[in-house]
Amino acid sequence: MGKLDVINPRTGEADHAITPATREEIAGKAAALRAAQPAWEAMGVEARCGVMARWLGAVKARAADIGEADAHDTGGCHTSYLQGFITMGNIGGWLEDAPKAFAALDYDALSPSMPSVRVQSQVVAYPLVGVISPWNAPLMLALLDAVPALFAGCSVLLKPSEVTPRVIETLFETVREVPELAAVFDYVAGAGDVGQAVIDQADTICFTGSVPTGRKVAVACAERLIPCHLELGGKDPCIVTESADLERAVTAVLRGAVYATGQVCYSVERVYVHRAIHDDFVARLVEKAQDVRLNADNPRAGHIGPFTHGPQADIVAAHIAEAVAKGAKVECGGEIEEIGGGRYLRPTVLTGVTHDMAIMRQETFGPCIPVMAFADTDEAVRLANDTHFGLTASVIAGSEEEAEAIGRRLNAGGIFLQDTFLTFAKSRTFGSDSFGWSGHGSPRIGPESLRRFLRRKSLLTQTGEVADIQDDHHLGNAS
Ligand code: NDP
Repeated sequence: MGKLDVINPRTGEADHAITPATREEIAGKAAALRAAQPAWEAMGVEARCGVMARWLGAVKARAADIGEADAHDTGGCHTSYLQGFITMGNIGGWLEDAPKAFAALDYDALSPSMPSVRVQSQVVAYPLVGVISPWNAPLMLALLDAVPALFAGCSVLLKPSEVTPRVIETLFETVREVPELAAVFDYVAGAGDVGQAVIDQADTICFTGSVPTGRKVAVACAERLIPCHLELGGKDPCIVTESADLERAVTAVLRGAVYATGQVCYSVERVYVHRAIHDDFVARLVEKAQDVRLNADNPRAGHIGPFTHGPQADIVAAHIAEAVAKGAKVECGGEIEEIGGGRYLRPTVLTGVTHDMAIMRQETFGPCIPVMAFADTDEAVRLANDTHFGLTASVIAGSEEEAEAIGRRLNAGGIFLQDTFLTFAKSRTFGSDSFGWSGHGSPRIGPESLRRFLRRKSLLTQTGEVADIQDDHHLGNAS
């Protein structure tokens, strides 16, 4: 197969290329990973931590290069330059928590229902985990699943998005510095068909991406009867109550909606503001939004980078155009700007929106802030929950108690109170689910994140007499 061009989002030019893996190459890599995995699992979690600690050192030494590669791939916001450090935090955190996650699965006791039977646990890693990751936050989202899978004792075959392969290439330079790790962690370049071929080889799949592709992945995994864990899109609401501090609400909403050009799964995608403060809120939001700078001159300086995937700008423009055609008003922004080959959009505040518009129903994935007024809390909750999605939601109110009372009524996995964008505060000690179309399978945060890569066995030993066929004792307390 020929090479695939990779576009630089800042210039619009193809300045990189990948060679998509063939089915034979993918099968060969899968076989090599499977061959190396038993030794990786057998060494135990403590020894694996030793290997992963060496990898952490290699990542640390290359953190700046990783940040540069991410910026090249995505168009570069300041998040790009944090990617190496986020990776270090991910690996370093599991160095502490993976042994605890294994210890929590230990079980050795007599059965309460059949007291002569000893029950012991054993955990067995899935030999080969396939990870399919998207173009937004391409490094973080590839490693969020791959790192705990490796700690669990699995081998991992990663398929990054064809749109953002550079940072993965740099990452694997660090992987190759640690031969034990390189034996069980590999990647294949290519587009959707390469993702499909990874599904055909793996024992379980972790997918992060859009709802339509997630559906295809779920069907393909169902055909093979292998588990899949899907983290999909969002249409995350933010509710601002009448008693909220206006400045706090505007600041949090603006950051939550436009950070990383709005190309974040848990971006604020729709805002519901009490009608008593709606006009003041919009006026202040527009004022503040106009201070947000593009980073067209310097990726490290401005707040908004180009669209990472140029065609995404067309989706965003179509949502804005449809909303305007149905009666919405653009209060600021609204025009895709072509600068030096990159495609940009300034923060775009819309009013007069309704739930008949795509901009309030479908994932927009751009720096758009549609604002709708509500009359009372019941209406705000009804509107926020009127969605197929359920990734995160935010509430900004006059007090933490008021925000919490509303947050408890919202259908989403992460509820941010008195702020937006608090996902990074989630930890490996507590997981949460995604609701509706936003996710499927076990949480990717918290101890379950590692446990989903382990199959649990029970070893049942009869320590007493074997029951006769006439004897009901073998049924335990059931009789
Ligand atoms: P896509 O669904 O388009 O692609 C995701 C990955 O799947 C890519 O690697 C893609 O390859 C691959 N793929 C495409 N077709 C298939 C197929 N038939 N079988 C297997 N794999 C396939 O998502 P995007 O890359 O556009 O990412 C943006 C989306 O990701 C947004 O919806 C966003 O909300 C979501 N997301 C969700 C997160 C969460 O945690 N919930 C976090 C971040 C993003 P290729 O790109 O090479 O075609």
